[in-house]
Amino acid sequence: MNVTPAISLAIPLADPAAASTPKAGAAQAARPALVGLSKPELIETMAGLGEKPFRAKQIWHWMYHQGAKSFAEMTDLSKDFRAKLEDHFTVGRPDVAREQTSTDGTRKWLMNFSDGQKAETVFIPDDDRGAVCISSQVGCTLTCRFCHTGTQRLVRNLTSAEIVGQFMVARDSYGEWPTPNDQRRLLSNIVMMGMGEPLYNFDNVAKALKIIMADDGIALGKRRITLSTSGVVPEIRRCGAELGVNLAISLHAPDDDTRSAIMPINKKYPVKELIQACRDYPGLNNARRITFEYVMLKGMNDTAQHAKALVKLISGIPSKFNLIPFNPWPGSLYECSDPATVRAFSDILNNAGYTATVRTPRGRDILAACGQLRTDSERLSAKEQRLRDEQERKIAEAAWQEKEAAI
Ligand code: SAH
Ligand code: SF4
Repeated sequence: MNVTPAISLAIPLADPAAASTPKAGAAQAARPALVGLSKPELIETMAGLGEKPFRAKQIWHWMYHQGAKSFAEMTDLSKDFRAKLEDHFTVGRPDVAREQTSTDGTRKWLMNFSDGQKAETVFIPDDDRGAVCISSQVGCTLTCRFCHTGTQRLVRNLTSAEIVGQFMVARDSYGEWPTPNDQRRLLSNIVMMGMGEPLYNFDNVAKALKIIMADDGIALGKRRITLSTSGVVPEIRRCGAELGVNLAISLHAPDDDTRSAIMPINKKYPVKELIQACRDYPGLNNARRITFEYVMLKGMNDTAQHAKALVKLISGIPSKFNLIPFNPWPGSLYECSDPATVRAFSDILNNAGYTATVRTPRGRDILAACGQLRTDSERLSAKEQRLRDEQERKIAEAAWQEKEAAI
């Protein structure tokens, strides 16, 4: 397949309303964001300004239903009150350092947070709907051998504001405010499958998802949210009890030897414990299944024996499989399984009664596909960044085109 990337680079978010506010310099940087506060925290914050709880309700509506990016837009608040808010807080959106759109419509943003740290967010459109893939950490503590993010050290957890903010930026980019009803949403789903391990940042992720799920704001229901984990067993239980969102498990192997070789976390939480946590996940039935993600790595985890062992392992758990062709990245060690092998693997799962979809790679030309996300902490000039992008794109494309003929 011929791949001609059509990429729009360096489109900063131009927000004249947000930019028009005073308070330059350090004082401005120090003002905390209101996005990311829970409802009780927002009420308490308003009480600190001598305001009634009703004010919190108004601001909540403006931020999460109307999508206001500045206090100036909150026109049913008095001028004095808006000025007071402006003195003390920001609404809070990450800056967009870079926005890229793939030839297949996938869009990726490089978010620039207030301390200069960065993370990536991806939107994967699909006809009239689509999923926003959100990051939970800058980097990752884990070192899954096949994952680009795993080559980056963990810099820090993202805050609830930064997690909610990623979704809000995506909505800004598609002009999807005020919150549309369920039928009209292009940004219809969220997958916590970006950079980082969401269950190693559970408190902030849970707080953010509760904000996103609240009916009187962004109002994205728990059935439309999927959290993917490499298998942090104790937190899987909390995730079920406190959030009840859909669960995806990065399983990638049916036995401890194979799994530990590619996912070091398996040494801490081995397959048996992981599968038990899946069995115990609340609310599972045929309409609400666990997704087992399985990256297809040539010669590592892709034989008929592996597939049969998988069927045996997850027997009795309402589940489906997402087979992910390995996405290469600069310097990656593995190859993707051959198409015939992937087909044979999925046939075994299908014949055992499980849905096994082979995920079509999206956004590979901009390194936006599963496992390709990575940021670095170097500060590059715009020119250096463009050269770096070009270089990375060439490496990724060369690897991709090699496989593409076969996939
Ligand atoms: N940390 C979480 C979520 C982020 S990764 C987790 O590990 O589940 C999202 C999915 O992409 C995971 O299933 C992950 O295993 C998979 N993945 C990572 N690197 C990949 C690669 N190079 N090719 C294909 N899938 C990959
Ligand atoms: Fe971290 Fe998930 Fe990548 Fe593993 S697959 S290194 S847990 S982001």
